[in-house]
Amino acid sequence: MIEKKAVSTKSKIVIVPLGDVDYGLINKLATALVSVFNAGVDILQGIRIPAEAYNRKRGQYYSTVILNKLELLKANPREKVLGVIDEDLYVPSLNFVFGEADPLSKVAIISLHRLKQENYGSADEEALYFFRLIKEAVHELGHLMGFKHCPNPRCVMYFSNSLLETDRKTEKFCDCCLRKARVEGSLV
Ligand SMILES: [Zn+2]
Ligand SMILES: [Zn+2]
Repeated sequence: MIEKKAVSTKSKIVIVPLGDVDYGLINKLATALVSVFNAGVDILQGIRIPAEAYNRKRGQYYSTVILNKLELLKANPREKVLGVIDEDLYVPSLNFVFGEADPLSKVAIISLHRLKQENYGSADEEALYFFRLIKEAVHELGHLMGFKHCPNPRCVMYFSNSLLETDRKTEKFCDCCLRKARVEGSLV
């Protein structure tokens, strides 16, 4: 007799808070991601930020080093892990990064650190902050699902170098990206 699979074949998103992170915010993010990706979203217990990722000279954390640690938390290859940290991240070739994704190991990280700057302090600051967070999360998870950078400045897969560009884009994949993903069969 063929046994029915107990778990859905759909891939799962696993959020991992790193260090001191606002859990209310993480919960809200998880709910938003469920509806964006139509996938299950779990929140793992927070972990310590790996000390070896800290660069004292730069005063920032090397995101790739943290990605390597996050990869060890994967329960199965289908899981997509999203680390969330409130520290400033970098890769050696850039001043800073909002986040980083490794599509091969299906692990990504986003930083809250810079999302509170520029225009923060306005009446709807909470909404603006959360909106930026969703965009960065969807962007990095998009990479894990096979999406590449998109030249459309309104598309969530647009590579933003500044909050100005983050604020200009939406949290949605453009038609072009969606079509490409469907053709390639990479959409969850
Ligand atoms: Zn990107
Ligand atoms: Zn696009």
